Amino acid sequence: MIIKCPFLIKYKDFKYLYTSGTIFKCTVGNVLLKSGDLKERWACKGCQIPRIVKKITCSYLKPHKIFLIRGSSKTWLSCELLNMEMDSSGDFCQLNCKLYE
Ligand code: SF4
Ligand code: SF4
Repeated sequence: MIIKCPFLIKYKDFKYLYTSGTIFKCTVGNVLLKSGDLKERWACKGCQIPRIVKKITCSYLKPHKIFLIRGSSKTWLSCELLNMEMDSSGDFCQLNCKLYE
């Protein structure tokens, strides 16, 4: 797998007459992705989530991603302790928070 993300899982292998491949699942966005999608910026390639959750290990941090239509997505974070939503940069946690756990 070309993308290292704790939320990316293999969903199933498929094989038809002249083609075969693997379908993946983004468990954050609860969406199925083709292997080619992993290289797209709207899916995994441009996704901040793997980097953020590696850097900010706070147990209250929750990533979110929604794929409204194929070819676009929106990513954000939330804090389950403070019950607030944040942009996908992780800056709030790193710069302002003393509650980090
Ligand atoms: S879209 Fe982001 S969170 Fe989802 S599997 Fe890809 S890299 Fe991980
Ligand atoms: S705001 Fe603080 S407590 Fe909330 S997720 Fe970020 S670091 Fe954790």
